[in-house]
Amino acid sequence: MTIDLTPFPRVPLGHWPTPLDECPRLGAELGGIRPLLKRDDVGGVGAGGNKLRKLEFLLGRALADGAEQVITFGAVQTNHGRQTAAACARLGLRCDLVLTRSVPMSGAAYDESGNIALDHLYGAAVHLCDGPEETAQVYASLVADAERAGRTTATFPVGGSSETGALGYVAATIELFTQLDTLGTSADTLLVPVGSAGTVAGVALAAELLGRRVRVEAACISHTAAESRADIERIASATAALLGHPAPTLDALVLDDRAVGPAYGVPTPQMWEALRLFARTEGVTLDPVYTGKAAACFLDRARTGEYREGETVVFFHTGGLPGLFAYAPQLLQAL
Ligand SMILES: *Cc1c(COP(=O)(O)O)cnc(C)c1O
Repeated sequence: MTIDLTPFPRVPLGHWPTPLDECPRLGAELGGIRPLLKRDDVGGVGAGGNKLRKLEFLLGRALADGAEQVITFGAVQTNHGRQTAAACARLGLRCDLVLTRSVPMSGAAYDESGNIALDHLYGAAVHLCDGPEETAQVYASLVADAERAGRTTATFPVGGSSETGALGYVAATIELFTQLDTLGTSADTLLVPVGSAGTVAGVALAAELLGRRVRVEAACISHTAAESRADIERIASATAALLGHPAPTLDALVLDDRAVGPAYGVPTPQMWEALRLFARTEGVTLDPVYTGKAAACFLDRARTGEYREGETVVFFHTGGLPGLFAYAPQLLQAL
């Protein structure tokens, strides 16, 4: 089946295709599997990352609808907020980030460095809220202000995970299979971190629509496997409907929440170990919130013999480097 993305308005924000890198030293450490890194962490507006792919479609739609202002949400160190701020700067749009203190982390690094410093640099208005009630109030007053001023707004959900946003990862998956075909190789498994679930929903849907025989491993970093499955099914079905297809079966989807730890954004020893291993075998930097926990899940799966000898596993590196600096004191302690 072919997938036609041309009806959907899109603004260019990244440099595609992103690299697909062999990682032989990492593979040897993992007992002879073949990891390939899909480097969605490199390049593009605002220090790169997976949200750019979603924002190409979200902002394409918003501009087509006449938006002059974008409002979105996240935790204090949201990568999605940072990439939205940068993309809005590039397009000349107002950007309001309504950020909720939802992660039990504090200190100068967490509160002032990493993503939040870049949010200010890109010119976003940053609104810090103590909980969901305040977040809702601040959002309502931003919408009311814009209405009074006659400004058209676009609101993007947490992580940009709507059906329109997930089109970005449908596009990424088409891109990945084209790369694999060109290399004359194939993947057994695609491993994707899961937060708000738009990324893996796009990947799993596209793999199924394209009829590719791969397992899609969804490595949870915040919610349980059951909660994440519900999110993925909802977004993948809505995205399929947007594309004119029936809801997918998602038979190839495997969820794994072994590496979540105590909560979203809270470091674990296994996460730091994964960061150290990727850095010292391949010179690749993971982030402590998403890719580090997804990699911890990957390492544990590899070590408990869940992959065959020589199995090709594509690990989606979804970015998040600025967030590492928010955790620099904990990083140095862990090393
Ligand atoms: C947001 C994010 C993810 C998770 O993507 P979702 O679509 O929210 O599941 C993974 N990695 C990084 C670095 C992110 O910023």
